[in-house]
Amino acid sequence: MAITDFERYPLTFGPSPVHRLDRLSRHLGGAQVWAKREDVNSGLAFGGNKTRKLEYIVPDALAEGADTLVSIGGYQSNHTRQVAAVAAKLGLKCRLVQEKWVDWDDPVNDKVGNILLSRIMGADVRLDPHGFDIGIRRSWEDAIAEVEASGGRPYAIPAGASEHKLGGLGFANWAHEVVEQEKDLGVFFDTIVVCTVTGSTHAGMIAGFAALEDAGGRPRRVIGIDASATLEKTREQVGRIARSTAKLIGVERDLRDDEVTVLEGWAGDHYGIPVESTIQAIKLSGRLEGMIIDPVYEGKSMAGLIDLITSGEIERDSTVLYAHLGGQPALNAYSGIFG
Ligand code: PLP
Repeated sequence: MAITDFERYPLTFGPSPVHRLDRLSRHLGGAQVWAKREDVNSGLAFGGNKTRKLEYIVPDALAEGADTLVSIGGYQSNHTRQVAAVAAKLGLKCRLVQEKWVDWDDPVNDKVGNILLSRIMGADVRLDPHGFDIGIRRSWEDAIAEVEASGGRPYAIPAGASEHKLGGLGFANWAHEVVEQEKDLGVFFDTIVVCTVTGSTHAGMIAGFAALEDAGGRPRRVIGIDASATLEKTREQVGRIARSTAKLIGVERDLRDDEVTVLEGWAGDHYGIPVESTIQAIKLSGRLEGMIIDPVYEGKSMAGLIDLITSGEIERDSTVLYAHLGGQPALNAYSGIFG
């Protein structure tokens, strides 16, 4: 099967915009940097990378006759906010487990931003004291069982929609979209920079570009920037999801190890806690491009991009595509950083 053989329920506006970041490129004095904007990909509650993943998961939920989407994330999860929006759009119920993934001392951390939006959209939001973990969680399994026990038909969507058999397809399709946009723009992105945490965004891209390369496309590198300081777990999860997604979309060879690149150095010590390079990256993107990025994910991947270009590890003659995956609502829970 190829990516085009999978059913896709449209939740996005269509291809997400791609544009140059001229002032940032000049400031860094190296490669040409462009952005592809998942933060404006949909009219559903500010969109983001999960909205794309959900386009391939929703047909399965509808086929199963589900009446409740059940998912999990941190208090400021972008993922659960996007699940709540999709449930609202489809007329389904939504049950969310919001764990205390981040020890961030902001008095409105469990009230503003993403969690506020999920409440507005009618999700049944339950707080849980457990800490960060990208794997399958007991609290989430309990929530599924509770929906069943009360006569509902739950559909389970794991954290970040990553440990789901179809979780990688949204960004495999993103790779195909990039190639079409390159033709229109007359450009070739030899390097993609993407933030990686639960893994299926990065993994989907790897699988999608592997399929395109096997069909005769030019090779390129996809650089994942770790944002959770759990490097070994993340590498394992990205590699596993990339391989299963590649198989699903008809890539016949095994993926090479060099196709799975997760770099560390910009996460700090903890998921959800910005460090100095995160804050500088957020300010630089805002001041030079009017492009807003968040302190949990995109601020860390942008910090990686900045260093890789200024150090010359991404070469001067490169054309780089920065995948902006959304996530700005969480900024409201971090107002103290910007004083
Ligand atoms: N960027 C944003 C804004 C996100 O919400 C997420 C979600 O976890 C990521 C990056 C990382 O994506 P993934 O979990 O698929 O690795």
